[in-house]
Amino acid sequence: MIEITWLGHSAVKIQGSKTVYIDPFLTGNPKASTSPEKIKTADVVVVTHHHSDHLGDAFAIAKKTGAVIVAMHEVAVEAQALGLEAEGMNIGGTVEARGLTVHMVIATHSAEKGCAAGVVVEMDGKKLYHAGDTGLTYDMKIIGEFFHPDLSFIPIGDRYTMGPASAAKAVEYIQTKKVIPIHYGTFPIVASDPQEFKKKVGTLAEVIILKPGESYRL
Ligand code: ZN
Repeated sequence: MIEITWLGHSAVKIQGSKTVYIDPFLTGNPKASTSPEKIKTADVVVVTHHHSDHLGDAFAIAKKTGAVIVAMHEVAVEAQALGLEAEGMNIGGTVEARGLTVHMVIATHSAEKGCAAGVVVEMDGKKLYHAGDTGLTYDMKIIGEFFHPDLSFIPIGDRYTMGPASAAKAVEYIQTKKVIPIHYGTFPIVASDPQEFKKKVGTLAEVIILKPGESYRL
């Protein structure tokens, strides 16, 4: 069993045989349900792209816990320059780190360094897709056909990413069984309504709407 906790914005904790954080933007995140000070253990910290609301506290958490950073090459190089253990990769590649398998997939978005990506992580027999920040792209059909994610984290906040309508179309492409909307409600400029997203997804997938700090068991 895997326990998934939404920490607010795009930050998630995945607790299974390993402890994994993805995009841990906590400091400066008004909706963060935890802080780097409260995080005691982590095995892997995955970063989808070099934007402050995704890279967030990744390096601080890795430094404190000894976790390995898994990220786009340019982000990994920055982490290594700070003395952190990091696995660099790029879109299309797969990395094994501390028992976690990370596949990097396409995202249509920008980044301070390198480019933006999404990730499919495999742990304890489950496949979880974290889309990072992205617009709707036909390439999501490949993610559905090739990976068949058990659960997906999809941005719905609009303006910088998909909004509820395009995110619902993405769910159709990804063929995911369960979806947790992310990247909304953090700031007024990304104030999308998750209920609108749920309505648009309809029967395509189970939409799990969490409050920051709430968990879901898969
Ligand atoms: Zn971004």
